[in-house]
Amino acid sequence: MEGRAAAQASVPGANFFGHQLCPQCLYSLVAPDASQHISEHTIKHIWFCEACGTEFATLVKLRRREPDRSVAAA
Ligand SMILES: [Zn+2]
Repeated sequence: MEGRAAAQASVPGANFFGHQLCPQCLYSLVAPDASQHISEHTIKHIWFCEACGTEFATLVKLRRREPDRSVAAA
């Protein structure tokens, strides 16, 4: 249990090769259980860890892409 607590402190919600890690047991989760837009630029993912039963949420902030103006007209 002590080792587990130390690992949690260093990896709260971190991604591992694009996968979400469970903050409780560090099990690698492939996809969220549910996702919802909570604002125009924010998505909330609800995760459920099938290994330990922990449910948690992560927020993803979307960055607005500016139009590509690098191609200049001749
Ligand atoms: Zn877990």
